[in-house]
Amino acid sequence: MGQIVSRPDVDVAILGGGCAGLSLAARLAHSKLSVRVIEPRAVYTDDRAWSFWRTRPDPFEGCVRKQWASWTVEGVAGKVMRTSSQMRYQTVSAGAFYDHASEMIEDGDGNALSMGVKARAVTRTGSGWLVDTDAGALTAAAVVDTRPPNRIPAYGQFFLGHEIETERPVFDPDTVQLMHFRPARSAGVDFVYILPFSAHRALIEVTSFAPHNPGSVVFKKWLEEEVAVLDPGKTKTIRTESGALPMEVGFADTVPDGIIRMGLGGGAARPSTGYAFSRIQMQADRVANALINGGPLAMGLDGPMTRFMDRVFLQVLRSKPDRGPALFQTLFRNAPRDRLERFLSGSTRTADRASVMASLPPLPFLHAAAFPK
Ligand SMILES: Cc1cc2nc3c(=O)[nH]c(=O)nc-3n(C[C@H](O)[C@H](O)[C@H](O)COP(=O)(O)OP(=O)(O)OC[C@H]3O[C@@H](n4cnc5c(N)ncnc54)[C@H](O)[C@@H]3O)c2cc1C
Repeated sequence: MGQIVSRPDVDVAILGGGCAGLSLAARLAHSKLSVRVIEPRAVYTDDRAWSFWRTRPDPFEGCVRKQWASWTVEGVAGKVMRTSSQMRYQTVSAGAFYDHASEMIEDGDGNALSMGVKARAVTRTGSGWLVDTDAGALTAAAVVDTRPPNRIPAYGQFFLGHEIETERPVFDPDTVQLMHFRPARSAGVDFVYILPFSAHRALIEVTSFAPHNPGSVVFKKWLEEEVAVLDPGKTKTIRTESGALPMEVGFADTVPDGIIRMGLGGGAARPSTGYAFSRIQMQADRVANALINGGPLAMGLDGPMTRFMDRVFLQVLRSKPDRGPALFQTLFRNAPRDRLERFLSGSTRTADRASVMASLPPLPFLHAAAFPK
């Protein structure tokens, strides 16, 4: 008599339907695997804009709202403008991203997005996993956990932004103001970021790279002042976004062996910037490939040399925040066109990393600044 083996409810359970969970589900949508995404939000809203330098294709290219070929970094040492012939700084609207991913999941066979459902404990069973949720339990052969990180990082990127529409044409629609440094209001490095959608419309964000969040009172006042300085006339706020992103080498939650951790909690944020969208797309490619084709899964996104550079760089920011603006300006002034942007997007090419290293003050100097005897 043959033994009856119970099949799991789904091949893959994805905990969390945010950027990482949906990026993975979109890649699995037309595979033979059945997928269930568990997401506590009852509805998606256009709650953020993901901006990044595109270095590779992904399923969300149709969700790009605008792209730019020029960006500036400005501080006491003047303004650096970089223009690229090839690379584009792009913005993906979260609203379009959520819609597109939800459609792809619906179109695929055996896939489902369970909205309004929270995942709780995950326990191992004989052949896979039991996922407890507030809408009952389900079994899965594989579990990918993309829920927010459990721990608070020692250093991070904190920001508050408004997308505004102005009466006067106060923005240059062709150039992103990437980092315009300001005297510090936090315990770290402070700058303003402006993503111009037109001469009358932009996302304007006040940002701190700091050991802790300066708080909403500081951010609100600072943002109001930055908008007022533009002399915009009557201003309408379209939407607000805020965040706290880890900037820490090796930042990732530990999970039980066998569970795949993705997204911010899986170390997706670039330690020296907090940017995560491009690296989440890299993680999603790798995880999808491993789940569809089998084989080993390497989740590490940075080699030892990149980790060393990030560690020294972050230590300088932490211990000598007043040197931060000059450090970024030096990088953006000296690094060869496109290489710095590729490196910041997560490129593992030796040539990109080498030219970024060559554009910084010598590492021993940085090291001495960061770790004084
Ligand atoms: C406002 C904002 C703007 C950003 N802008 C940029 C940018 O311009 N460029 C860039 O590179 N990065 C940016 N980031 C950083 C990063 O890309 C985003 O935070 C990204 O959304 C991280 O993806 P994630 O999947 O790890 O987390 P999320 O997208 O937050 O997804 C986590 C999901 O888990 C769900 N969840 C929570 N609890 C449970 C539970 N118990 N069970 C199941 N699911 C649960 C949440 O509802 C959420 O949907 C931004 C972040 C924020 C907050």
